[in-house]
Amino acid sequence: MDCLFCKIIAGEIPSAKVYEDEYVYCFKDIAPIAPVHYLIIPKEHISGASEITEENSMLVAKVFEAAAKIAKAEGFENGFRVITNCGEDAGQTVHHLHFHLLAGVKMGWGPESLGKTE
Ligand code: AMP
Ligand code: ZN
Repeated sequence: MDCLFCKIIAGEIPSAKVYEDEYVYCFKDIAPIAPVHYLIIPKEHISGASEITEENSMLVAKVFEAAAKIAKAEGFENGFRVITNCGEDAGQTVHHLHFHLLAGVKMGWGPESLGKTE
């Protein structure tokens, strides 16, 4: 399958690994928007949040388990944010379900934090 993140999981494309277990892989985002910007992805290919089903939703729980473990291990004691972009309006560019894990900066919240383009 021609999927960038499947290739990263397979080791065909290099990545800066942060964490890995049976279900998920976490690596550094190549274009960070925060001091800490990781991506957590299920090892199974799911194209995005709109394709989460009763059969695969356990993987989303595994992603959040990993996020909590990483946050503890790396000491994000001031907090962190987990985001998934789904579809065109949200700006999804890679069609393999991924969760951005952001930390290390005080983040805004509200309409202005959307980064609207129009
Ligand atoms: P999204 O826009 O939500 O689909 O997020 C895709 C993310 O993947 C972006 O933040 C990119 O910077 C990141 N990205 C793209 N290619 C790579 C790569 N080869 N290694 C690490 N991160 C990547
Ligand atoms: Zn994939």
